[in-house]
Amino acid sequence: MKSQAITALGKPLEEIEKETPTPRGAEVLIRTRHCGVCHSDLHLHDGYFDVGGGNKLQVKTDESLPFVLGHEVEGTVEALGPDAKGVEVGKSYAVYPWIGCGVCGICESGREHLCTRPRAIGTSIDGGYSDHVLVPDAKYLIDIGDLDGALAACYMCSGITAYSAIRKLEPVMSGGPYMIIGLGGVGMMALQVALALYDEMPIVADIDDKKLEYARSLGVKQAYNLSEEGVFKRIKKETDGGVAGIVDFVGSEKTVNPSVSIVRQGGKIVVVGLLGGALATPIPMMAFKALTIEGSYVGSLQDAREVIALAQSGKLKPIQIAERPLSDANDVLESMRKGEILGRVVLTP
Ligand SMILES: [Zn+2]
Ligand SMILES: [Zn+2]
Repeated sequence: MKSQAITALGKPLEEIEKETPTPRGAEVLIRTRHCGVCHSDLHLHDGYFDVGGGNKLQVKTDESLPFVLGHEVEGTVEALGPDAKGVEVGKSYAVYPWIGCGVCGICESGREHLCTRPRAIGTSIDGGYSDHVLVPDAKYLIDIGDLDGALAACYMCSGITAYSAIRKLEPVMSGGPYMIIGLGGVGMMALQVALALYDEMPIVADIDDKKLEYARSLGVKQAYNLSEEGVFKRIKKETDGGVAGIVDFVGSEKTVNPSVSIVRQGGKIVVVGLLGGALATPIPMMAFKALTIEGSYVGSLQDAREVIALAQSGKLKPIQIAERPLSDANDVLESMRKGEILGRVVLTP
């Protein structure tokens, strides 16, 4: 099989060829049809995340190379291990990538995406910048039916991240309005999920008037520009005492800290964004307000199945996707670094 692999951290990917694996046990060999290019691929390519304040979080080392990126994979089953159950050769599936060790307590509770010994496809084990992907178990494949393969691939990252985060607000939603901060790719997806799942419109906030205008065109009534002076005070006033829940896809001290001041009693802030900074909340406020601040990272296998089902129901508006051949992987990563990519790019190995 041919792959575009990282052979030196931060250097252009190189085409490598190795023997196509034969699946063993419950493993499944997928012939890749689509693999989304995600912004986080840039960090894996560099080998680290910049976590602010001049600190780096190392995620790849030279010893782990060559490594094949790509965690947003859709393809057809080419071969099955002898114990692989419930999938058919030739059919199309989305590959749930956030796989854990499978045996620890966290994995057993259905939260493999939080396992501390991950086997995540395209971040821990070789991914979809390749004509084939070896999936550790058939249970991670989701039948996509008639759903567009490129779209199904993208849902495995931004889709389940958005879905899992917004659903964390459900326990507090009866207590007042809810709000989405940050309408980038994932935030916009969350808005789509909210429109598909709930009768009540969310309040939205961003620094880009064009995005706010777009949200209004979808039916949102209250859209706020965060660069306006005193905007959080205004939100509190215009919501008659604040909001019950917030999902924050920015995740900076300029969004999380003022959010605490506009959340009602018993409310919740779900933090997804990774922009950085420090939490500066007076600790007694946590108790007085019975406040919950919860982090959210990608989503579970169950979330992934539910997102695909929601998309199949036709309630999720498709996102804009451009397809490029696998050999363009370096070009795509380079354009993404320069911020030249709008919407999603999907490689078609
Ligand atoms: Zn991703
Ligand atoms: Zn585990």
